[in-house]
Amino acid sequence: MKGIMQDWPLTVDKLLEQARLINPTREIVTRRVSGEIVRTNYAAVYDHSKQVSSALLDEGIQLGDRVATLGWNSARHMETWYGTMGIGAVLHTINPRLHPDQIAWIANHAEDKVLVFDTTFLPIIEAIKDKLETVKTFVIYAGADDMPENTLGAVPYDLWIDGRSTDVRWGDFPEDTACGLCYTSGTTGNPKGVLYSHRSNVLHTLVTMSKDAMGMGADDVVLPVVPMFHANAWGLALSCPGTGASMVMPGAQMDGASIYELLDSEKVTITAAVPTVWLLLLQYLRENNLKLPHLKKVIIGGSAIPENILRAFEQDFEVDVIHAWGMTETSPLGTLGTLPPHLMDADIDTRMAQKLKQGRPPFGVELKVVDDEGNEQPRDGKSSGKLLVRGAAIAAGYFKGDGGNVLDENGFFDTGDVANLDEFGTMQITDRAKDVIKSGGEWISSIDIENIAVGHPKVANAAAIGIYHPKWDERPLLIIQAAEGESPTKEEVLASLEGKIAKWWTPDDVQFVEEIPLGATGKINKLKLREMFKDYTLPTA
Ligand code: AMP
Repeated sequence: MKGIMQDWPLTVDKLLEQARLINPTREIVTRRVSGEIVRTNYAAVYDHSKQVSSALLDEGIQLGDRVATLGWNSARHMETWYGTMGIGAVLHTINPRLHPDQIAWIANHAEDKVLVFDTTFLPIIEAIKDKLETVKTFVIYAGADDMPENTLGAVPYDLWIDGRSTDVRWGDFPEDTACGLCYTSGTTGNPKGVLYSHRSNVLHTLVTMSKDAMGMGADDVVLPVVPMFHANAWGLALSCPGTGASMVMPGAQMDGASIYELLDSEKVTITAAVPTVWLLLLQYLRENNLKLPHLKKVIIGGSAIPENILRAFEQDFEVDVIHAWGMTETSPLGTLGTLPPHLMDADIDTRMAQKLKQGRPPFGVELKVVDDEGNEQPRDGKSSGKLLVRGAAIAAGYFKGDGGNVLDENGFFDTGDVANLDEFGTMQITDRAKDVIKSGGEWISSIDIENIAVGHPKVANAAAIGIYHPKWDERPLLIIQAAEGESPTKEEVLASLEGKIAKWWTPDDVQFVEEIPLGATGKINKLKLREMFKDYTLPTA
């Protein structure tokens, strides 16, 4: 027997509709690339989003077509999100920190038809324009007055939407329709696309709005420093309209002074970013003897929180830290570190120890830790193993079937993280099985670096591993085994990478070893290498 309830498809346009009807005057404040601060509100963003939809429909965009953005966090970027998703087109957020060739590869793989981007990225797009096989329309976030000269035939965003109809029907499709596409650098081969559905995004939003997750309300002012191009700004561009929280968008400026200025002038109550951003802010606060009187909560994730950042926020600035773990594949929030009730009154060291762990999964995220044979490990806070995850907002595979089947026989996805769980579900990451380096919250592919380095005639084998760095969390160290009779220099090896990888991927140092350790299957034994270099300090640290 079926229940007799209404069919109300879970589509993301309803979140902005909610903001328009219930909290129309709540503001969205943006620092534009020019530095200018502009203010708008949910009612106006709603109308502009509808105009984006009209513009896309006039371009011939249909259900399922991909529309790409290369944009900082801004109100215009949000309008592009909703304008795209509302009509059932797929919003593809591209990460501008990738190498331009990778950006071109991703845009072609996604078959993007429209590309909307910030002026900052014009040089990148100009450089790859001949490689873009499917993009027909280029739109730049600019008005008639500040439109940069370009050879793309691009249109200024403000003119593109100006005067268009707001009378567009949204959400007229099933809730499992594709909604967003975000590529993630896998451990092998090319990046893979995670294809969110409307339903998964709405469920993720409902869960993350709750008190033991992000816990925001209409009276909050939220500053997402975490970019809309990486894992959906942790869902904030959906959960803020959903709750009616005001938003402050930092644009391109994420240094300590700029972030502080917004936190202070806009009286921000909740903010979110990777640890590197907070390190810069804390430094700035100390140097200038400043306080954070308005800020209640800072959500920190993407990499583990260093203890000094946690304690500084909690003890020096009286700001509640929520440590979050997640992945592009988990929409992204998987665990959040609000204190469990039994530890509310514990002493400060116990509470800080708990908060250094990655947190507990909210309803909708199932976690499991297994050993190499797949046996579930006890939830004792000690037994580490592969971290598996299952839920309504967890990827079931990648776009176009890349990577094949990614779920085990019980429907769990292997995160590539190594972790333990305790009896209250607190998850603690202890290692990473996947072979990638995370620097300042963004991935560096060790395999790409290694493949290029071994191409040097004086190199027999090469391995890149992440080494702790106080500012970036991890930076790459390149380890080289020289070809017989050769003695390559650090400069020679690094020169071979130049121009082939993004500049910021360049290893901070090169170390030479007699022999790079290999595992049973002939693969480089990264665990052994990490062990060998555990006491090594980077010259940049
Ligand atoms: P991404 O898909 O780029 O968001 O990266 C997801 C990966 O980042 C996870 O699988 C972890 O390896 C790492 N990660 C994310 N959050 C944390 C955290 N709080 N602590 C440690 N590692 C994290």
